Amino acid sequence: MNIVITGAPGSGKGSRTEFIEKMFGIPTISTGNMLRSEVEKGSELGLQAKGIMDSGGLVSDDIIIGMLKVRAAEETNGFILDGVPRTLVQAEMMKDAGINIDKVVVVEVPDEVIMGRLSGRRVCSGCSEPYHIEDKQPKTPGICDTCGRELMTRKDDQPEVIKQRLKMYHEQTKPVIEFYKNEGVDVKYIDANRPFSEAEMAVREAFE
Ligand code: AMP
Repeated sequence: MNIVITGAPGSGKGSRTEFIEKMFGIPTISTGNMLRSEVEKGSELGLQAKGIMDSGGLVSDDIIIGMLKVRAAEETNGFILDGVPRTLVQAEMMKDAGINIDKVVVVEVPDEVIMGRLSGRRVCSGCSEPYHIEDKQPKTPGICDTCGRELMTRKDDQPEVIKQRLKMYHEQTKPVIEFYKNEGVDVKYIDANRPFSEAEMAVREAFE
């Protein structure tokens, strides 16, 4: 099963994908994480992408889909796509490349809630595990529970950048949902403006 999980930045896609991974035993492919790892390595692609990512813009469709094709080809049992496709062009390019989607899960949260969530978000500088200064604190302050590295604030979680990323989501990514509906793909909505304890149940419902 190939699944697309979509929603505004900070809507909680990352934690929902963990439940879907467990349900189906398939991995998540996150283009954001792939790009951040290129930035960390200091590769040519990373250097190109860094400025765009720091300002809340979108990396070119060709780069993203080129990267995705290679990664998706490694998986034979399906995958969850997190953060891609982010534009209609990417959705079309994926279709042309034979990356077919069976299900779309849309994680919905009001913009003002997102602003609060993202400005309090911290991520592990090693494994990218997300935390929150109020809602998901690590056992030891500032340290990742999973790998022991230091937590940090992503540059693109600054308020002005968050606004830009939300604008991008509404203008560029939302039309992708209509694209898949028109393709006859099953689209399910999850209300993620609810206590985190209900998150797993909401994800299960989306697959009933
Ligand atoms: P994310 O972690 O998914 O929020 O991605 C972080 C940043 O990486 C985004 O703000 C974009 O600059 C870039 N990025 C990730 N995925 C894509 C994509 N599919 N298309 C264009 N840019 C992307």
